[in-house]
Amino acid sequence: MGISLKTHKILWAKSGSKCAFPECKKDLVVDESETDDPSVIGEEAHIIGRKNDGPRGKSELPIEERDRYDNLILLCSIHHKLIDDQERKYTVQLLHQYKIEHENWVKENLRIDKAKERVDIIYAGYIDKFIELAEVDNWKGWSSFVFGGGQPHIYHRNIRKLRELIEFTLSRVWPGRYPDLEKAFHNFKNVSNDFLTVFEKHAQFQTVSDDELTVEEKDEQMIWTEKFYRIREYDEERYHSLLRKFEYHCLLVEDLALEMTRAANYLFDMVRLYFFPTYRIEEGILLIEIGPFMDMSWKTIRNEYKPDERESLYPGLRQFMEIRESRNYFRGKGIDEDYFPKYY
Ligand SMILES: [Zn+2]
Ligand SMILES: [Zn+2]
Repeated sequence: MGISLKTHKILWAKSGSKCAFPECKKDLVVDESETDDPSVIGEEAHIIGRKNDGPRGKSELPIEERDRYDNLILLCSIHHKLIDDQERKYTVQLLHQYKIEHENWVKENLRIDKAKERVDIIYAGYIDKFIELAEVDNWKGWSSFVFGGGQPHIYHRNIRKLRELIEFTLSRVWPGRYPDLEKAFHNFKNVSNDFLTVFEKHAQFQTVSDDELTVEEKDEQMIWTEKFYRIREYDEERYHSLLRKFEYHCLLVEDLALEMTRAANYLFDMVRLYFFPTYRIEEGILLIEIGPFMDMSWKTIRNEYKPDERESLYPGLRQFMEIRESRNYFRGKGIDEDYFPKYY
């Protein structure tokens, strides 16, 4: 799991971005992009070790709770090394005491933009939620089913979580401090909402009634696109017209998944631009894998909005059908009126 963005923001804010070791108080930066002196890069040190065999690691505290704010102390690299090298001297209790004393000092002596701090922690929580619900760390994995062999399928779990993310985005109180970041959240919401609506138009949900399955059992069901061109009666013309619709449908689902990847990458760009310069730098851009093609090969694609697409982003379903050909990669083309409700 690792340290969440929210925890990171809280720890840095309460420490005043300074080393918490007594008398050090060195001003720290988040990463090497901001300095040529590695000793000023802040380290989020574990008080009880992250693992049982790490410094001060022997403890009853469950591993998953060790990345929380309560168990972290912000230090410069020199003092982090010191406390880990001399773990007998720098005990859990002593480090907690250092942390409390330092945070009290920060409160009394530093003038901090409290409003910004509060808002940043709120955004950080939203971003953590996005990472979890969009299964960002498993993006290539779950999206590969959408692109798998011309019949898009997806775990029920991912449908449920995307729905939850859409709800979450809609019901948030948005602080308004970083409008472009908020726009990126809403853009992702709009694409994923259309992705789900289009996918579900021909999705083959299991017929078992909801209450016969636990949430876990339901989550692990694979939901397939229905081969709706398979008709009982012999009608070649109708069969071919439905087959064409089926192919169009599958490519549209794929195109929307491609657009979702662009929307997620754009969101991370905005997080880096306004909020946290090296966010997910190590993990890199989200990629997707398409295949297998006729020759059984798979293609890895890096999906991003081009500079001139960054103003309008996702333009809504009808317009997207039209312009998808101009994206960095696309599968199908053209508008189909079947996807728009008709009013009489
Ligand atoms: Zn350490
Ligand atoms: Zn220090």
